[in-house]
Amino acid sequence: SREEVAYFGAGPAPLPTPVIEAGGKAFVNYNNTGLGLAEISHRSPTANAVLAEAKSALTTLYDIPEGYEILFMQAGGSGEFSAVVHNLVSVWVERRRRKAEEALGNDEDKLLERLRKEVTEELKVDYLVTGSWSLKASQEAARLIGTKYVNVALDARKANNGKFGRIPEEATWSLTPTKQEGGTGSAFVYLCDNETVDEFEFPAFPQCLEPQGADNEEDERIVVADMSSNFLSRKVDVSKYSVIFGGAQKNVGVTGITIVIIKKSLLPPQTATPPPALLHKLEIGGLPGTIVLDYATIAKNNSLYNTLPIFNLWIASQVMVNLVKTFGEQKVSGQEEIANKKAELLYKTLESHPEVYQVVPEKSVRSRMNICFRVLGGDAEKEKEFLAGAETLNLTGLKGHRSVGGIRASNYNAVPLDNVEKLVRYLEDYATK
Ligand code: PMP
Repeated sequence: SREEVAYFGAGPAPLPTPVIEAGGKAFVNYNNTGLGLAEISHRSPTANAVLAEAKSALTTLYDIPEGYEILFMQAGGSGEFSAVVHNLVSVWVERRRRKAEEALGNDEDKLLERLRKEVTEELKVDYLVTGSWSLKASQEAARLIGTKYVNVALDARKANNGKFGRIPEEATWSLTPTKQEGGTGSAFVYLCDNETVDEFEFPAFPQCLEPQGADNEEDERIVVADMSSNFLSRKVDVSKYSVIFGGAQKNVGVTGITIVIIKKSLLPPQTATPPPALLHKLEIGGLPGTIVLDYATIAKNNSLYNTLPIFNLWIASQVMVNLVKTFGEQKVSGQEEIANKKAELLYKTLESHPEVYQVVPEKSVRSRMNICFRVLGGDAEKEKEFLAGAETLNLTGLKGHRSVGGIRASNYNAVPLDNVEKLVRYLEDYATK
C-alpha cells in the first residue's frame, strides 16, 4: 500500500494521498456529473472554475502582487527554457523597435537597419550556470539565438575544480551592466533556484540582482527563475522576479502542467509588426518560436488557447488549496518550516557519520529539496549495497541522477516527516553496522 512505501524520487514525486484518492474519483465521475475530469471540455464552466481556483490559491500562497499574471502551460520546464528566450528576446526587440520608431518614424528600411545594428552590438541574455538545469537552459538559448548572444555570467564549475556545488562571490559574476551601471542591459538574467541534479539551491535572492529603482521600469533587470524543483517550498518575494516558472510534477501536481508567473508589462501588446515576424527579418537564430509557448497569446486566452489538461490542473489546484487550508495565514512559510525541518534532520544524520557519508555541495548552497550524498567516498559497490538495503525496507527512489551517481533523497512537500524519519533510521543503522 502507499503507506508501506517511502518514496524519495526526484520527480515525478509523491503527492498527498488525500489528493490522489480524490483524484481517482474525479477521474471517473467528477462531482456526480457522470463524467471524469479528463473527459470534459476545457472551455466548460467546470474547467473555468478549476482554473480560477488554482490561480486564487497560488496568488494567496505566494502573495502574488497586482501586475502579475499566472499562466498554465504544457511543455514542462524544458519548454520554458525555449519560451523564456522566445518571449523575452521578443520583448527586448519590441522595446527597441518602439524607441527606434519614435526617433525615425515609420521608414521600414531605416528601422531595420538600426535594429540589426542594435541586435548585433547589444543583444545579450545572461545566464547564471549553477548546475545541469541552468546549463541546459543556457544551451537552449544558444541553440535558438546563437552562442554570441548568450553571456554565461557565472559558471559555478570554474571556481570549483570543474564541479558544481559552490557559488563564487557575486563580485566575480560578469552580468551585462544595466543602464544605471553604464551599460545597455540584457534581455534577461536567468537562474535556476534549485538545481535538482546537483543539489544546489540559492540561499537567497542574489544581492546584485536586487531592483535598482530605475525611473523607467524598462531599465530594470528582468530576472527569470526556474523553480521547478522548489516551487511552493519557501517564501518568495515575487516582486523581485519578472518570470518564475516550474513544472508541476515535483511539489505541485502531476506532469503536464507548467506554471508561469509573469509581470504583465512583459506581455507585449499585439502590434502592426508582431515581434516574431520582425525577429525573422532580423535573422536572430531560431526565433520566432511556436505560438503555444507565446506568453502574450496564452495570457490573452486565460491559459485556454489550446486544450489544457484539466484533470492535471485540478490535481495542482487541490494541492495548492490544501496548502492554503493547512497553513492559513502562514501561507507558504508554513510549508517552508516543514521542508527545512525534514532537510535538517537528514543533513544532521549524514554529518554525524562523516566516515560513511559525504554530502556533495558546500553547506551554504545545500538544497533543502534534493539531498545528495556519497557513501564511503563514492565507492560504487557500497552505494549499490546501500541502495539494495534501502529497497528491502521499502525506501525507494534514492538512486542519484545517472549523470552524477551517488544517492539522492528528494524531500518534496508531500514527502511525510514519518518517511524522512524512516530514512534517518536506515542511515543510522547502515552507518553503525
Ligand atoms: N528544471 C529543473 C530544475 C528540473 O528539475 C527539471 C526536471 N527535473 C526541468 C527543469 C525540466 O523539466 P521537464 O522535464 O518538465 O521539461
